[in-house]
Amino acid sequence: MRVIPAQRKSRVLSKVRFGCLSEAYSINVTRGCQFRCVYCYARAYPEAPHIEKVYIYTNLARKLSEELDNPRRRIQVDWVVFNTASDSFQADPQILDITFKSMKVLLERGIGISFLTKGWIPDRFVALFRDYPEFISAGIGLVSLSKRYKEIFEPGAADPWERLLNMERLSKAGIGVHVRVDPIIPFLTDTEHETRSLLGQLKKVGVEKVTLSYLHLRPAIAHQLKKELPSTEFKLLGSFFETQPWIHVGTSTKSKLVPRGIREKGYERFKAISQELGMVCLVCSCKNPDLRGDICTERGIKRKGLPGREQQLSLFKC
Ligand code: SF4
Repeated sequence: MRVIPAQRKSRVLSKVRFGCLSEAYSINVTRGCQFRCVYCYARAYPEAPHIEKVYIYTNLARKLSEELDNPRRRIQVDWVVFNTASDSFQADPQILDITFKSMKVLLERGIGISFLTKGWIPDRFVALFRDYPEFISAGIGLVSLSKRYKEIFEPGAADPWERLLNMERLSKAGIGVHVRVDPIIPFLTDTEHETRSLLGQLKKVGVEKVTLSYLHLRPAIAHQLKKELPSTEFKLLGSFFETQPWIHVGTSTKSKLVPRGIREKGYERFKAISQELGMVCLVCSCKNPDLRGDICTERGIKRKGLPGREQQLSLFKC
């Protein structure tokens, strides 16, 4: 995969268009993402580059500091959400360098950062975050510990054990970590065995809260899945959505949900095992409009003051 230097011409800080964080500013360090998750809806955006290319905005940190330090700036920025259409922790030195500089620009100006990653977080980031614990909302995406799942659904992302290590290292550095189990794949990642081993490991590394959601199907994602999944997995997945209607979910144009009965049973299983382990398990209400979900993010962002640990922000791009 080629990482191509590019110049960011438009404003760096733009508002998130997602319902649950419609007041937040967001930053994407790259256009395109090396992780190539098969279920990624950002890959289907019109501006998304070819799967073999990732553009890195080399002027991002400079442009960001210029925007923030501009005396005529009218906007107030308290928190910035990274990774709405890419992952800041893609394992490329240039990408990591620009991510580090951009995060530093924000933290040094008293602006909090929120991210959800499936990458490996290098030590220098953990050291930086240690100096600003209350300004960091760290989210780790992890659906399964299975190597096969990772290879076929998230081929470029960090290994599950690396993500577990991220959680452990961040917690030790005093950073609150939330885990997003999304997208759960019915009958593949939600079995009793899978659920127990995932939650058991999360508990071991000190995770106290997880947020759940099953896979959403959008037309473009269906196309990706057909092209990139092995036929057995594709057929299994397809069978769940066959009779499901296309509906509007949040800001999406058209989506299909996993049948309600399957989701309910799966969430119950997660909740029961979490309870046994003394963990809190939330169901993402944005992605489950037909169920009584939980508010897993603070709705909107406070204009004044930073959210506390229990109100940390996360963003769901999967
Ligand atoms: S889901 Fe996230 S990590 Fe995966 S390819 Fe899309 S942007 Fe990258």
